Amino acid sequence: MISVIGIGPSREDMTFRAVDAIKSADVIITYKSYVKYIQDLVVGKELILKGMGDEIKRAELAISKSKEGKHVALVSSGDPGVFGMGNVLFQIIGKYSGVKVEVIPGVTAVNFSAGMLGAPLHDFAVISFSDILTPISEIKRKVKAASEADFVIAIYNPLSKTRTKPFEESLKILLETKKPETIVGIVRSSEDGVDVSITTLDKLSTSKINMSTTLIVGNSMTYIEEGYMITPRGYRVSYPIHQLSREFYEKYLKGDVNEGPNIGCEYYPCHNHPQNCKFCYCPFYPCGEGSTGGKWIKDKGLWSCEDCEWIHNDKTVECIQTKLPQIIEEVDDLKNNKKELLKLRRDCIYNTRESS
Ligand code: SF4
Repeated sequence: MISVIGIGPSREDMTFRAVDAIKSADVIITYKSYVKYIQDLVVGKELILKGMGDEIKRAELAISKSKEGKHVALVSSGDPGVFGMGNVLFQIIGKYSGVKVEVIPGVTAVNFSAGMLGAPLHDFAVISFSDILTPISEIKRKVKAASEADFVIAIYNPLSKTRTKPFEESLKILLETKKPETIVGIVRSSEDGVDVSITTLDKLSTSKINMSTTLIVGNSMTYIEEGYMITPRGYRVSYPIHQLSREFYEKYLKGDVNEGPNIGCEYYPCHNHPQNCKFCYCPFYPCGEGSTGGKWIKDKGLWSCEDCEWIHNDKTVECIQTKLPQIIEEVDDLKNNKKELLKLRRDCIYNTRESS
């Protein structure tokens, strides 16, 4: 039996299952730098340490030892299925018969980094910038596709001293397809610990990036709140319909609201002139997402739209009004159909976003 085990980024992040599997193995095969994380678990066992680039040899050795009837622990950092030994082993397993394998997942760099940054992941892609086994053209194609589809993108192995081209060329693609102010989380591990910082795509400096860094590039809705990087999923926040909003939507449903700027309003411009006042009261209130500039008023339980100008853009208004009649037939639908409204909001944010 071969247990392909992911030990995560450090001993503290190992799962109980990974610890138990290493304890019960007869032979431990791993990359020599990982042994420090499992030193106390390998005492009295056959320990085989290999170097970087010896992955196929490690997998072959694991198979040969298991065929001798031994329980082998083939140990990867992170998760064995994410650029780890799982892929290597399964690539050659067809050469042999009767090899039993179990895969024990570990905390991969993207999960670890996301935890350090806050909650940056929604739908996401993981791309390694290592071009040792992958042509740069493939890396660039994947970066472009993921960026255009507005995935959050986690980048492994972004940069080394000798290998800078995948990073430089991919950053160019990201800047062409995403807004320059797109949020980027940087998590760099070293012997001294973990360094975490958050910046924007246009300010991304190579000084903090090396092979032990994971980058998480946000999507068009990612924002920073209280120092955390957040990509909202769009959960529904319950809230009563404000009386003024009710009165506004009663008029809206009768087609009796202002088109374009309402210059005659005593509060005009409540944001910036010129602004479209068609949705004087936002149909998504309270969206509870800071991606458009809205924010919670602390300790009051109130949502403030003061810094959200998005709802007053012509393109936004055009996008919303095409689908809104299918969702709101009466004012109470602002509450009853909130999930559909929030989906419409996300759709319109995506469709009204502008890249650099
Ligand atoms: S105005 Fe903006 S911040 Fe306020 S609820 Fe609407 S979308 Fe959200």
